[in-house]
Amino acid sequence: MRPTRLDPLFAPVTKLPGIGPKTAKTLTSLLVGHSEREARIADLLFHLPTSMIDRGLRPGIAGSPEGMIVTLTLHVDQHRAPPRNSRAPYKIFAHDETGSIELVFFHARRDYLESVLPIGEQRLVSGKVEWFNDRAQMVHPDYIVTEEDAASLPVIEPVYPLTAGLSGRMITKAMQMAVKVIPSLPEWQDASFMDKQGFPSFQEALLSVHHPEEASDLVAESKAVRRLAYDEYLANQLALALVRNSMRQQGGTERHGNGSLRSKILSALPFQLTDGQVEALKEISEDLEAPARMLRLLQGDVGSGKTVVGLMAMAQVIESGAQAAMMAPTDILARQHFASMEPLCKAAGIRVAVMSGKDTAKNKREINAALEAGEIDLIVGTHALFQSSVNFKNLGIAVVDEQHRFGVHQRLSLSSKGDHVEVLVMTATPIPRTLVLSYFGDMEVSRLTDKPKGRQPIKTVSVSLDRISEVVDRLRAAIHRGEKAYWVCPLVEESEKIDLAAAQERFEDLQRALGPVVSLVHGRQSADDKQQAMDDFKEGRTRLLVATTVIEVGVDVPDATIIVIEHAERFGLAQLHQLRGRVGRGSAASTCLLLYKAPLGETSAARLNILRETNDGFLIAEEDLRLRGEGELLGTRQSGMPGFRIANVEAHGDLMEVARDDAKLILAKDPALQSPRGDALRHLLYLFSRDEAVKLLRAG
Ligand code: ADP
Ligand code: MG
Repeated sequence: MRPTRLDPLFAPVTKLPGIGPKTAKTLTSLLVGHSEREARIADLLFHLPTSMIDRGLRPGIAGSPEGMIVTLTLHVDQHRAPPRNSRAPYKIFAHDETGSIELVFFHARRDYLESVLPIGEQRLVSGKVEWFNDRAQMVHPDYIVTEEDAASLPVIEPVYPLTAGLSGRMITKAMQMAVKVIPSLPEWQDASFMDKQGFPSFQEALLSVHHPEEASDLVAESKAVRRLAYDEYLANQLALALVRNSMRQQGGTERHGNGSLRSKILSALPFQLTDGQVEALKEISEDLEAPARMLRLLQGDVGSGKTVVGLMAMAQVIESGAQAAMMAPTDILARQHFASMEPLCKAAGIRVAVMSGKDTAKNKREINAALEAGEIDLIVGTHALFQSSVNFKNLGIAVVDEQHRFGVHQRLSLSSKGDHVEVLVMTATPIPRTLVLSYFGDMEVSRLTDKPKGRQPIKTVSVSLDRISEVVDRLRAAIHRGEKAYWVCPLVEESEKIDLAAAQERFEDLQRALGPVVSLVHGRQSADDKQQAMDDFKEGRTRLLVATTVIEVGVDVPDATIIVIEHAERFGLAQLHQLRGRVGRGSAASTCLLLYKAPLGETSAARLNILRETNDGFLIAEEDLRLRGEGELLGTRQSGMPGFRIANVEAHGDLMEVARDDAKLILAKDPALQSPRGDALRHLLYLFSRDEAVKLLRAG
């Protein structure tokens, strides 16, 4: 249960006076990002200002610089209301000892203005001054107060990131009320560490960022912001450590296996495993045989051959008598894995099935029944596999592809699907060490650093769409030489119809130019038509496959040597790298043609340049990170998984490792968080929405 002392912070923002349902909705979309829950006061408080306004500047009217925010002591001289039905603004004329100024109000309410700016009286007015032909103006002052109320005028006013429908005034007012409800909480940080860092208390830190006394209070390096960033990292590391501990506590199963399935798979493979694959499999196999539960990350660039490693790991667990599940972030990827593993499973006698969002209810029921009865050894699917309706007879291993899109709670629900489920996470994103720490905690890591032998680097060129006929000529020559090529048309989800029409049209163009060797595949086709188009291409009856991005689906055609990506400027860097990885899978030299529409924007040009310059997925991911920011790289925005709201790796990266060690130490001394500090730390976990981990304490 959530500590009751936190109640004021977990109240919805509508509890604050003046915040109605409409503003609350805007705040929710700004602060929470999805509508599954309403924004709370805590969310508001974790929304930190990015700069500040200094209202202490009092230069007098004549000395007010153009465009600056100043505070003036004005004597009100005259009101001038616009004629009826006129759009002209309401104007108020005022002066001080240095000059005169017009205060300008659009859509003004006369009685209101007469009450706040009565003629003949003096008022403090704060806002932005603008000059027109030597006449000073202030449009909609931010503050109008009497001299007695001067104290209510903030001297330093924080400025918050905003969104449509939310003004700086609204959020500042809300924040002023929110800071008043911050309860005093037990300190969860170690006293001597706080001393050394010069950290203020949680309450003081929040007050200082929302009521800054000087600009330096707001920078990421300030003691207050660092304190809050450290709180956030510690909550995260503690949650991850709790998950790990609870997995360890539950113990594990030794899964030896007799090698029978694995040897059949190996002999059905048309290639030899790379040294990297052999090494990774050795590490995985040892983990599986050990009594402790496996929690391992497998990193390897696109095309490095992770799938077969995952399959071999699952085969070992199936040999030992349990079931295996492989999870992908999208339906398309799930089907791709299924397509590539099915023939190997067949050869080994592994009963394999795929479950996807597109299955009919009846289909799903059948698969569920077979899983419960133990009639399926290996299931491939999306997060649909997490659903409570899915039960296994004896799930032994979960292989999760591109896991960074899954959150902690999903990982937890996964472990509840079986006894001591072993976990292997596969990712093509070479996540920097600090991010591995923050998203996975201390996982063991295996890396595939080599590519399958005989691969030649892919030559990448970019060509303007104006020169499309040259590209078609090149394709014609290549097809005459017996080569195979992909032509990728972009798919923008919002307008799938338009894109499909464009792909259809491109297909017809190319068929006209090249003859009946062209086929088309796209997401709206029936599964049979899709399969037919793929098979025709694979077996050489057609030589050019025009496709929307569905060619991520199970297409693995090693003798394809050319890929043309139309409107390459519309794709993200990682996606282009993935698509390019469809060629260069065999021993022949391959080419990737990036067709772009001129003129290119700066970022698009940078993306295409990077691709031309390197085939190295590590470098590409780093550049992607630089161009897009870490949230997107890790897919947190799509999944709605709570990222970091305060901490950022550039400014606070040094604190992350400290937090990890701290978390380890805390749990070593107080595994159930029962000491006074442990109790305080429970508050922290709730504050930063890492409370799924608290449930483990009760269970364990
Ligand atoms: P990724 O790491 O991107 O998931 P895949 O597992 O899809 O890579 O493998 C890419 C391609 O390389 C597939 O066609 C696969 O069959 C092939 N492959 C995997 N391992 C080897 C190997 N050792 N030798 C040759 N080809 C391999
Ligand atoms: Mg893969």
